[in-house]
Amino acid sequence: MTAYDPENIFAKILRGEIPSTRVYEDDDTLAFMDIMPRTDGHLLVIPKTPCRNLLDASPEQLAAVMATTKKMALAVKAAFGADGVTIQQFNEAAGGQEVFHLHFHVLPRHEGMPMRPPGNMGDMDAIASHAEKIRAALN
Ligand code: AMP
Repeated sequence: MTAYDPENIFAKILRGEIPSTRVYEDDDTLAFMDIMPRTDGHLLVIPKTPCRNLLDASPEQLAAVMATTKKMALAVKAAFGADGVTIQQFNEAAGGQEVFHLHFHVLPRHEGMPMRPPGNMGDMDAIASHAEKIRAALN
């Protein structure tokens, strides 16, 4: 497998070298808003330690990320009054992965409402207000 690249964009977010809208963190994981949200409240959960994806992640990294993913799924469901939550995770380019630091997508879903198409920049004010709702749901 290709080696982990410490210059990937999520590694830069972890080091604070580029901005992100953080909603939750603990010793092992970080949750922040996706800048191209496919539903309102779309966020990403990552481990703070390096791994490309599920294929090279340790059991400890996976356990920590899954615990935070569940916490965030419950938070977005409450924050947006969602009917369900979609969790997505992609491995290597052929598997649909674009950023090579393990991440789980958490997307609140409403009955009958499709996800928006990928690749469209979100409105940063809207993303900030969605983040605030999620933080409030966590408290
Ligand atoms: P994938 O690797 O296919 O799971 O896709 C990477 C995801 O990261 C996409 O949903 C992008 O919108 C998102 N993304 C890329 N750059 C950033 C960034 N700087 N901040 C937040 N999300 C990002």
